[in-house]
Amino acid sequence: MCIFCKIINNEIPSNIVLENDDFLAFHDINPKAPIHILAIPKKHVESFNDVSPQTMEKMTSFIQDIAKEMNIQDSGYRVITNIGENGGQEVMHLHFHILGGAKLAWTHLSDSNPKDFL
Ligand code: AMP
Repeated sequence: MCIFCKIINNEIPSNIVLENDDFLAFHDINPKAPIHILAIPKKHVESFNDVSPQTMEKMTSFIQDIAKEMNIQDSGYRVITNIGENGGQEVMHLHFHILGGAKLAWTHLSDSNPKDFL
């Protein structure tokens, strides 16, 4: 069973922010911003590649609710999902990073020069 399924099953503790029948949101154990929440579906889905539009429709509302709960909806925030090896995905259970609480950096994300690919 994957680590996020263990969190859903209460086999691993987590600091929960929001929960409903379909989704769970909890604090990232290694935060990259003052506010760093992970939102996951309770049903195991490996990545964004495999998620249905129906689940994403509900996930959109859930992420918006997290932003309200954390009081970052007006100050601004970032939503990221890493997919596969080049995307830097380490946990193979779909998750959305919700980052905020400070002005976030936006910089080169790889050692390659993007202009080499134009
Ligand atoms: P990714 O690199 O997109 O797969 O992100 C995985 C994220 O899961 C990382 O930001 C980790 O810090 C986070 N993470 C891993 N294990 C736990 C855990 N037990 N509780 C909370 N966050 C975790």
